[in-house]
Amino acid sequence: MTETTSPETKPVVKTRIPFQRACNEKNEKGKICAGHLKRWYGFGDDIKKQVGESAEVYRCENCSTVYLPAPGFKSRSGTLQF
Ligand SMILES: [Zn+2]
Repeated sequence: MTETTSPETKPVVKTRIPFQRACNEKNEKGKICAGHLKRWYGFGDDIKKQVGESAEVYRCENCSTVYLPAPGFKSRSGTLQF
């Protein structure tokens, strides 16, 4: 329940739908961004903690929304969750 937003614009972090290639984040006018999601290697420790260092993280080149891999849709890392 933390709704505190830092004064700086923090990138939105979303979970990527499998096979999603374009950003579906809406801007203030309610228009879908549709920017290209590009593989992003420069993510910080926050995201590493969530998805691991070698995760496939994508970022919208238009609005900088960060897309994390969909849960259960990662490449097999040997971690079974049953
Ligand atoms: Zn976008």
